[in-house]
Amino acid sequence: MTLTDRLMARIATDGPMTLADYMSTCLLDPTDGYYATRDPFGVAGDFITAPEISQMFGELIGLALAQAWIDQGSPARFSLAEPGPGRGTLMADILRATARVPGFRDAAEVHLIEASPVLRAAQAQRVPDAIWLDHLDALPAQPLFLVANEFFDALPIRQFQRDGEGWRERVVGLSDGVLALGLTDPAPLAMLADRLDDTRDGDVVEVSTPAQDAARIIGSRIAGHGGAALIVDYGGWTSFGDTFQAVQAHQPVDPFATPGAADLTAHVDFAALAQAAQPALHSKLTPQGVFLERLGISNRAQALAKGLSEPARETLISAHRRLTHPAEMGDLFKVLGLYAAGSTPPPGLTA
Ligand code: SAH
Repeated sequence: MTLTDRLMARIATDGPMTLADYMSTCLLDPTDGYYATRDPFGVAGDFITAPEISQMFGELIGLALAQAWIDQGSPARFSLAEPGPGRGTLMADILRATARVPGFRDAAEVHLIEASPVLRAAQAQRVPDAIWLDHLDALPAQPLFLVANEFFDALPIRQFQRDGEGWRERVVGLSDGVLALGLTDPAPLAMLADRLDDTRDGDVVEVSTPAQDAARIIGSRIAGHGGAALIVDYGGWTSFGDTFQAVQAHQPVDPFATPGAADLTAHVDFAALAQAAQPALHSKLTPQGVFLERLGISNRAQALAKGLSEPARETLISAHRRLTHPAEMGDLFKVLGLYAAGSTPPPGLTA
């Protein structure tokens, strides 16, 4: 049975499913899930991420995390962790860039949190001495220095549409024999009580409980044992509107047309992450371009360019532009830093 057939059979038996159930089945179903069955990155794949664009991204993030570690007195044992590490490129770049920071590598336990067996295998080629964990809550009770790039956008969301003082949930059902969005009857929802102030009839808001759970674990480790987190993703301070999207071969597609074959994401609600991470503190939400410029990406690009001839030089200049320019990834992608009370925000970020 194809994944589409199985989804339709399940809806026929159990009734419409939440977008969160749809999203997690399409992404992580063990036999047909998108991430469970492929390596989707790169020009030949479905999408490309910052670490796959240039080594500079991971190098600067590595040095920022190492500086945060030094600022906190260089704890002798800590987790250097990444949830959703994709091909392992970012962590490999972090480890290379920090290899000469005295004591850092010896103190670090590299923890990769990955759900997909295919991607775990890819990560093992680039970061052979990592320890893989199934879930963030398996992180040991010790200081945590963590980066997450395009991890939170992959976590399942539910969508609610305002109706008077209540909300209708947008759910996946069947219409004329195909998967289609429907709406539940309106009901008041305690978890959206504070959204009655900034929404009107018909407005859509998104909630990701798994994203909040992940931020809660990261925040509690940092608040309890020290450390810092850099969360990089697209999104804004507060969730507003329908941002559920499917991408295949670098093009937007209908999220209900090819279950398991397209990447499904939603914009990240950074305010919800910051709130869930308390009592850890959070930095200002900062555009990726601003963050990377503060960490010195232009100097790094110039230094790398010196040793290059065309066309590698041209590729480097275009990578720099792609990562930082407001018309490319520079503005759409944001960085949120988490840190413990009594320490300072990670490099490149302000309180
Ligand atoms: N950070 C990488 C990859 C981003 S794609 C990069 O920037 O290139 C999203 C990643 O999150 C993939 O590795 C995917 O398999 C992983 N992932 C998605 N849902 C997950 C979950 N619930 N738990 C752990 N990993 C998950």
